[in-house]
Amino acid sequence: MPKLSMSEIVALGASLLAVLLVGPVLDLTPWLLLAIALVWIAYQTVQQRRFSRWARHPLRRANGLSSSWADTAGSVHRSVHASRSRTRNILRRMAELQIVTEALPDAAVVIDQRGLITRFNPAAGRLLRLSSKDMGRDLLALVRDPQLARLLDGGIDDHVLEIMSPFVAGVRLEVRVIDVSSRTRLVLVRDVSQLYRLLTMRQDFIANVSHELRTPLTVVAGYLETMTDEDVSDVDIQLLASKLVSPVHRMEALVGDLLLLTRLEASSPPSASELEAIDVESLAHAVVREAEGLSDGRHEFRLELASRVKIRGVSKELHSALMNLVANAVRYSPKGGVITVSFDQSDSGVHLAVTDSGMGIAPEHISRLTERFYRVDLAAARVRGGTGLGLAIVKHVLKRHNSTLSIQSELGQGSRFCCDFPVSQTLSAIDPSALDSVSETDGS
Ligand code: ADP
Repeated sequence: MPKLSMSEIVALGASLLAVLLVGPVLDLTPWLLLAIALVWIAYQTVQQRRFSRWARHPLRRANGLSSSWADTAGSVHRSVHASRSRTRNILRRMAELQIVTEALPDAAVVIDQRGLITRFNPAAGRLLRLSSKDMGRDLLALVRDPQLARLLDGGIDDHVLEIMSPFVAGVRLEVRVIDVSSRTRLVLVRDVSQLYRLLTMRQDFIANVSHELRTPLTVVAGYLETMTDEDVSDVDIQLLASKLVSPVHRMEALVGDLLLLTRLEASSPPSASELEAIDVESLAHAVVREAEGLSDGRHEFRLELASRVKIRGVSKELHSALMNLVANAVRYSPKGGVITVSFDQSDSGVHLAVTDSGMGIAPEHISRLTERFYRVDLAAARVRGGTGLGLAIVKHVLKRHNSTLSIQSELGQGSRFCCDFPVSQTLSAIDPSALDSVSETDGS
């Protein structure tokens, strides 16, 4: 029963006073008091009925209630309103959380204390092949791995381990278990195959560099040791010193290529101010002149320049890329071989190619040639003086010029290494106003 309002107290007080004054005169005091009590009870019953009716839908306005009942209805209304907006907030947050969990690339599986699945996100479907019929099933029965069993049993100290995916060959998964409460655990699973590959590549790279440097260093150390012998004549020292030149040059070339490759990989694409209008004819002439020095008259060089289009690029980088291709042609072509530098145009862009009539490459090697230190024949490549980084440099230079390297080769017949530049990388395709910032260069 709500507290009486002031108007009700006044009405009740006035009625009682009237009864006390009029009752003795008429000799009806008890009857009048009874009448007031009955009216009061009837009035409160009506109010309580209205209140009950309203309370079934407490978010509506309360009409026709006395002010004391209306006050009570008001506070109920406010508290229902507040709890409704709190519920709405909670629901909104839960929906947001669900969207985030569903968007996660990592699998998230919630399990109870017995290891039974109570919830999982779509990534768990992809990585662990879970589907809606797996709800309530034992995770270990679905992802069978003894290491995972140990992890869920608490047998692995830092609660994280790597396992090979039982579903997709070659996929490596990192699994982490988080105790959310005494009854709930969260199992997070991440595909770390790419990360692992990068790590392995880095380790291989360091091992390769060390190996490449160790060979010439061992040679240098051997000669130096012999030179320090007391009974070595001055003539022999001269002879030994001359033998140091080649391994030292080899190390110099390797370190130079390594630095260049690291710079190419690490730096962002060339800015507008770095770009030049490269005249391919001058570039090709400069490269062939250098290659003639390397060949020492053992090869015949030809230039076939069918296009006069200029390339928009970094001249030093393109010179280095073309030089690597021509140097390889010299290195892997026998005496008397013909090496052709050609430049032509098609609908897709311009093509700068180096073709040789050398030893050629078997098809199974072609897709791997641009990997760092990949050689078809390691011993032969070392004898010929390559660093194993030439084609990786070419690939990165071209990538920085939005271009690609295509390789065609036939064993025993020769090879064609072609730099394919898209139309957007040629000068005629550029907005003429952009040309002001592109300086002319002879490419050498
Ligand atoms: P390298 O310094 O060993 O030449 P590259 O990255 O330039 O390294 O080339 C990788 C491998 O590709 C070489 O070791 C060689 O086996 C092969 N190769 C490259 N160019 C030619 C070519 N013109 N003819 C035949 N084989 C080639």
